Amino acid sequence: MKFIADRMLGKLAKELRMLGYDTVYYRGENAYPLIKLAREEGRVILTRSTQLTPRRPEDRIVRIMEDKPSRQLRELIQRKIISLHEEPLFSRCLLCNILLNEIPREEAEGKVPDFIFYQQREFSRCPQCSRIYWQGSHQDHMKREIDELRTSTK
Ligand SMILES: [Zn+2]
Repeated sequence: MKFIADRMLGKLAKELRMLGYDTVYYRGENAYPLIKLAREEGRVILTRSTQLTPRRPEDRIVRIMEDKPSRQLRELIQRKIISLHEEPLFSRCLLCNILLNEIPREEAEGKVPDFIFYQQREFSRCPQCSRIYWQGSHQDHMKREIDELRTSTK
């Protein structure tokens, strides 16, 4: 399942990417390009707006009821729209929504802090922004969040 999140849902878009879901973040204010892109790419629209309603049978719109960004991911899980086991975790760039490539360890040398380089064995890179990812502290933090979701949404 692929998503497009509207401008109100920036945090949710990042979290979905973290879970491996292909998620476009649409910053515009106009609803039409949002719907058009969703149709063209077969994406489910995520919105907080009550105005946005399906106009064609292929339009899939999920209205997020939860006001707090910290609870919106949980809402999607509880409503069974997404699952924590469907896509590989941490496989996508959180900024670009692109699948990461694994890189040889030596390519990360000098591009990540030294202590990270010596601590970590595996690195991957975003082909678009060249940001390097590893199983590091920010991921540990997110992993804890995911573990909490796993236990609390059972
Ligand atoms: Zn990137």
